Amino acid sequence: IPTLRRQDPELASLIGDELGRQRDSIELIASENFVSPAVMEAVGTVLTNKYAEGLPGKRYYGGCWAVDKVEDLARERVKALFGAQFANVQPHSGAQANYAVETAFAKPGDTIMGMDLSNGGHLTHGSHANFSGKLFDVVSYGLDPATERIDFDDVAAKAEQRKPKIIIAGASAYPRIIDFERFAQIAHDNGAILMVDMAHIAGIVAAGLHPSPVPVADVVTSTTHKTLRGTRGGIILWNDPDYTKRINSSVFPGTQGGPLEHVIAGKAVAFGEALKPEFKTYIQNVLANAKALGRGMQAKGLRLVTGGTDNHLLLVDLTPAKSVTGRDAEQALESVGITVNKNTIPGEQRSPFVTSGIRVGSAAITTRGFCEAECERVGELIGETVFALEEEPERLDGVRAEVASMLASHPLYPNLD
Ligand code: PLP
Repeated sequence: IPTLRRQDPELASLIGDELGRQRDSIELIASENFVSPAVMEAVGTVLTNKYAEGLPGKRYYGGCWAVDKVEDLARERVKALFGAQFANVQPHSGAQANYAVETAFAKPGDTIMGMDLSNGGHLTHGSHANFSGKLFDVVSYGLDPATERIDFDDVAAKAEQRKPKIIIAGASAYPRIIDFERFAQIAHDNGAILMVDMAHIAGIVAAGLHPSPVPVADVVTSTTHKTLRGTRGGIILWNDPDYTKRINSSVFPGTQGGPLEHVIAGKAVAFGEALKPEFKTYIQNVLANAKALGRGMQAKGLRLVTGGTDNHLLLVDLTPAKSVTGRDAEQALESVGITVNKNTIPGEQRSPFVTSGIRVGSAAITTRGFCEAECERVGELIGETVFALEEEPERLDGVRAEVASMLASHPLYPNLD
């Protein structure tokens, strides 16, 4: 970033700080990843200058012929990637995609149903702190306490009783395969639309290693920046031509103005990458690495919610280390160079600011090149950190040194500075 460094050294230096932070820590936040240099280049282009309200071929501005082709490329690629008939690639984020779909299919005051935030759902699935909980009458479903998996009897009973307009499936902190067919059955038996938010698992779905919601759901939303490894943003997919006008007009003019064509270009590059055979290998490694992280943590005495993982993330119950909260663990891990987030666990007794768990994901370190054996060791180091915190904090120095040496063997963005 030579020009930026010359013109605005203060800002350039902050970007340098963030690059250094990303290089110097083992990134285990389950919703994050490292985009390719090509994705980054596409986002930092002249496309940021262009207004293009509307859709390709039907814009409210002149001079859109080039961005029309960019957006068409993104749409065609994402449709091919997920086998969808229709796509809108304009949502600025996952939350914007969910806002557009929920307001397209439900009116304020209507009932919608989603997974409870404290059980792993997302804010936009009906939290009272979010538009979804403020606009709609929300009924939440949760987990079966015995299995810690989605309680489909609860979903079916509540759907029958409350007849929601929309049932939302998908989660931010759920380590197991989600049975979308079962959700579709319950939704359609009760006159509801099934909206699947596959944000976390989109890359796994794209690689064919998680059942796809696209053939069974009425509408699918996603972010593009988690396991899918694209620039930050949202997408909406559907198959029924009768929904096309309703969804497109809910994005624009319903909930957004001009699309971010530079970001859409970044999405197109990432979709192109995900269409290549190497992406399937990447996702296979993501899945193997998540299991390896889990083995390492279990070996050190931590408990995994549901006993393991089918996807890229693990929810870790810290209660075996009695006095250590999620907040304590997040801070201690950051101090040794491992980045995670605190997370509530099923049956949580502490506040969401404290929590009894952490969430750990393998998408970013897999991009960085960590192999299964290294991930197992990272899992052990997490366990060692948590128990050292309780027993003997001086042991953290040894963990810090080992983390640093692992990072040194996997350089991140070697050509950036
Ligand atoms: N949906 C799910 C399931 C998520 O986990 C997230 C973000 O973590 C979102 C939607 C929101 O995405 P964004 O942060 O891009 O608004």
